[in-house]
Amino acid sequence: EQWFFRITDYADQLLDFSGIEWPDRIVTMQRNWIGRSEGVEIAFGLDVPGVEQKELRVFTTRPDTVFGVTFMVLAPEHPLIPLITTPDRRAEVETYVEQARRQTEIERLSTEREKTGVFTGACCHNLLSGEDVPIWIADYALLWYATGAVMGVPAHDQRDFEFAQQFGIPVRVVIAPPDWHGEPLEQAYLDPGVMVNSAQFDGLPNDEGKEGIADYVESKGWGQRTVSYRIRDWLISRQRYWGTPIPIIHCHKCGTVPVPEDQLPVLLPEDAEFKPTGESPLAGHEGFVHADCPRCDGPARRETDTMDTFMDSNWYFIRYLSPQYDAAPVDPQRAGKWLPVDQYTGGAEHAVMHLLYARFFWKLARDLGIVQGDEPFLRLFNQGQILGPDGQRMSKSRGNVVAPDEYVGRYGADTFRCYLMFIGPWDEGGPFGIEGIAGIWRWLNRLWGLVLSEPTFGHAPAEAVRHLRRLTHQTVRKATNDMERFHFNTLLAALMELTNGLIRRRDAGPVDRDAWNEAIQSLLLMLAPVAPHISEELWARTGRPYSVHTQPWPAWDPDLAREDEITLVVQVNGKLRDRIQAPADIDEGRARELALASPRVQKFIDQKRVQRVIYVPGKLVNVVVR
Ligand SMILES: [Zn+2]
Repeated sequence: EQWFFRITDYADQLLDFSGIEWPDRIVTMQRNWIGRSEGVEIAFGLDVPGVEQKELRVFTTRPDTVFGVTFMVLAPEHPLIPLITTPDRRAEVETYVEQARRQTEIERLSTEREKTGVFTGACCHNLLSGEDVPIWIADYALLWYATGAVMGVPAHDQRDFEFAQQFGIPVRVVIAPPDWHGEPLEQAYLDPGVMVNSAQFDGLPNDEGKEGIADYVESKGWGQRTVSYRIRDWLISRQRYWGTPIPIIHCHKCGTVPVPEDQLPVLLPEDAEFKPTGESPLAGHEGFVHADCPRCDGPARRETDTMDTFMDSNWYFIRYLSPQYDAAPVDPQRAGKWLPVDQYTGGAEHAVMHLLYARFFWKLARDLGIVQGDEPFLRLFNQGQILGPDGQRMSKSRGNVVAPDEYVGRYGADTFRCYLMFIGPWDEGGPFGIEGIAGIWRWLNRLWGLVLSEPTFGHAPAEAVRHLRRLTHQTVRKATNDMERFHFNTLLAALMELTNGLIRRRDAGPVDRDAWNEAIQSLLLMLAPVAPHISEELWARTGRPYSVHTQPWPAWDPDLAREDEITLVVQVNGKLRDRIQAPADIDEGRARELALASPRVQKFIDQKRVQRVIYVPGKLVNVVVR
């Protein structure tokens, strides 16, 4: 007896990703995991002497192929098998069932390997075609999916096709490929076509046939349209000590009784003994197992299974908000302030377990009034992975683990931290190499000197002041965008450019005090998240109030960040033909490109050959044609 959560009740809700911004591949993985398919459940007649069950139901997304069924497959665990197998087949069938039991689901579903199966000796009856259909068992059918029975349509399903080839089962085409004249198929035909060999449905395009057959099956009472899911209910029972005890008491009079709320939580005993009995240590712990029935007070037995630890990762972020709060799972005020999670970063390996269970559990908590909103994690980013220098995942056994301690010792934690951010896009990761770390170290040293050595303050030309402020505000704009998108490597590049720009400005002569202080302050604020120690130290040494880490992120002014623009006059053979707005620092190559791309100028160049282009910097482009 095991415990499940009925996650299948939430399958459709879990397929709605409209409220969240997640990577496409994670959404796709969850969608496939849930595996919703619309189809028809169709009954096949069953007439085996001594067997009570008179029909066998199969789920199919392709009712249009039902006239092409030439065999039926049951999952090896299907309860009908022992009942319908004929005596001459029994030994072979039992051997096969035993083998299948020892394989993993992944092995069973692999499309690569050769198909295996055995005939049970029994048949079922295709009610639409009136034919008898042999019943096989094969491990590619899974008991838990839909009905555990699969109709075999080799002409229109590749897996069925391979199975039929393997065992000499007929292949009957019921959807004609274009230009098909009855020749045998080389492989299953999966595309649309016109229905053939399908009685009154012949001649219909198969998508119409799909609906027609579904209607027909429903009108005859042989089945109905239905939705099937790949996802199963979540088995949470674990036979181990470490886990949250499942709060249930088994009473032989009252059955399964939930532990009353005032007796929660059920705590693990601290004196459990770990013996190699194959059973959970809880099952052998008398004090834990014996309990009074909460309902009749009689002697009862406590459930000894513990919960899957994914139960805990489901909602830790909810509980963390108020871990001391006793009245409910979370303090509603804190929940209202903090939840849902705005930004979640985590590995893609959690795509279909933790991240799906957490969404399910959140919806459950929402329905219980514990949290508000439909989704726990509004935005999800997957980080890349830093690999060993050999490009392989770091592991002790490969001997390619890079321990940060050595570099932290030599260069400091901030340098190492910045270096990790700088070596590649955060969401891609890549092999670890140490070549660039000295460059980061030199940059932080330059920055240190820059902030602590005061420049000569004085009257600076207006253009120099404007230039300095533009550099500051452009950097804040870029760093803000990069930070929001987790583009840490380009954020660092922007901070390096700002550092170098400020050094050049300082060395060029007197600087404006306000513009300079604004630049240094912004630099330190942007540095704070990436180099937290150095930035705090510099913040303090320049007399700013503790702490840099409690300051708001700097703002940028679009007007100050805007590039200066100039008007370029464009002539063709000395005659004014256009005026173009261009950045003040435009170079000759770009100015020529802009001039030649102008439609008005194009009109005058027409078929003529451009002989040369004269550029007067910042003023004029003259295109000479003949
Ligand atoms: Zn009882």
